[in-house]
Amino acid sequence: MTTSPAPAFDAVVIGGGIAGLVVARDLGRAGRRVVLLEAGDRLGGEVSRHTVAGVDLDAGAESFATRGDIVATLATQLGLGNELVAPDPRGAWVIESDGGAFPLPATGILGIPGTAMARDVIDVIGTRAALRAEMDSLLPGPVGAKEQKLGPLVRRRMGSAVLDRLVTPVVMGVHSAHPDDLDVDRVAPGLRQQLLHQNSLARAVRELRSLSKAGSAVGGIRGGIVRLVDELAADLETFGVDVRLGSRARSYDSSSVTTDSGERLTASHVVVALGARDAAALDGRAAPATGLITLATLVVRAPELDAAPRGTGVLVAPGQPSIRAKALTHASVKWAWVAERAEGRHVLRLSYDAPVVTRATADVELRALALADAQAILGTPLDDSRVDGVGRIEWTPPLRAPSGGSVVEERGDVLRVGGAVAGRGLAGVIAGARTAAAGIVDEPVD
Ligand SMILES: Cc1cc2nc3c(=O)[nH]c(=O)nc-3n(C[C@H](O)[C@H](O)[C@H](O)COP(=O)(O)OP(=O)(O)OC[C@H]3O[C@@H](n4cnc5c(N)ncnc54)[C@H](O)[C@@H]3O)c2cc1C
Repeated sequence: MTTSPAPAFDAVVIGGGIAGLVVARDLGRAGRRVVLLEAGDRLGGEVSRHTVAGVDLDAGAESFATRGDIVATLATQLGLGNELVAPDPRGAWVIESDGGAFPLPATGILGIPGTAMARDVIDVIGTRAALRAEMDSLLPGPVGAKEQKLGPLVRRRMGSAVLDRLVTPVVMGVHSAHPDDLDVDRVAPGLRQQLLHQNSLARAVRELRSLSKAGSAVGGIRGGIVRLVDELAADLETFGVDVRLGSRARSYDSSSVTTDSGERLTASHVVVALGARDAAALDGRAAPATGLITLATLVVRAPELDAAPRGTGVLVAPGQPSIRAKALTHASVKWAWVAERAEGRHVLRLSYDAPVVTRATADVELRALALADAQAILGTPLDDSRVDGVGRIEWTPPLRAPSGGSVVEERGDVLRVGGAVAGRGLAGVIAGARTAAAGIVDEPVD
């Protein structure tokens, strides 16, 4: 009788983004023998840093959803508990397609108001539409609760004005997709259950907001979200995880992974921790056309901006004719730590979709475009002599969020986590990664 040799590792983790790092860290901490494969030359994936005019900043994700305390709990376990920060309470604004600018109502989730008749809601949608939205409190709970997509749910409970003028600009900015195309359970977990409990969408929103300890829907880390990557990488070293940069998985099955260089790594568990596009490529499925998101970060000397003319930033409604950026984050207002690092200067991060900005757009053109947009959005003249530096970062837009609410998936003996399963956002991705690792750790070691 022949017995197959014992696998070399307890787990092979494919992908060194946040998902893969968390799985590898939790397994390494539990004493498992782990190898982590990362195709690129650095860890972190969509969480990374760059330096603009001497200021170190997040180049990708810069905040996290506070719901469920998932990210804060991880950060605390990584020793960053004292570094958790809340954004400036002044909140974000929207610029509508007709040029009107207004602050987003303070108590909402994804633009859905927690109080339909609040002054800041009436200021945007008018009294008539606010009265329609208030009807939400009179409708039976089940109305709209079976809607899978966010758009129809909001429309049925609160009317079109709330959907079109409050929710759509926020959702397009965060998820690059219309609310009609997004699963409620994916982008607002727990909302439909709360709607049934509370018999009102507004009350459901308020309840979900109150469940996050921070009181704010998002949180940050002093020094940047990227500090999670630094700490996770340090833990991998401490726990003896075999981290291989520049090592791309080419194929896998339930007990082995073969790399681009032809090496075959055997393991009791295979964990695929990738975004949707990378996962499709690994599985040999054609990834749809790629697209491009370009972030232009300006560091400017402009004391006029100390007054935060548009709060922590602005979402620009689709179809706005004179502004080409999709959004502007006033990072030095949103985060006190950015203001400290910028030493009196202002940090403005503008995002652009292709074809407005493409790889062929020259740096000087991008600089001029970002400066013109920043002036239009902030209503403040800023000439080029005030610009200390411009950072340019390119990202591939996410594929449409996978449907369903699960954050980890088991296919045969292979566990799948990361953006391909959990969709966009650190909270879901980290929740999936921790669940996957906990499932493996619970199993007895062979
Ligand atoms: C510009 C931007 C801003 C964002 N802002 C926020 C925010 O403010 N808040 C928030 O919660 N979320 C935000 N996100 C989303 C969040 O960053 C992601 O959801 C999360 O980081 C995804 O992590 P991941 O591990 O699933 O995937 P990724 O970060 O994509 O990591 C996957 C890794 O796998 C590697 N890889 C790919 N193929 C292979 C292979 N075959 N073999 C080995 N390695 C491979 C890649 O090189 C990559 O490093 C933002 C994303 C972007 C791009």
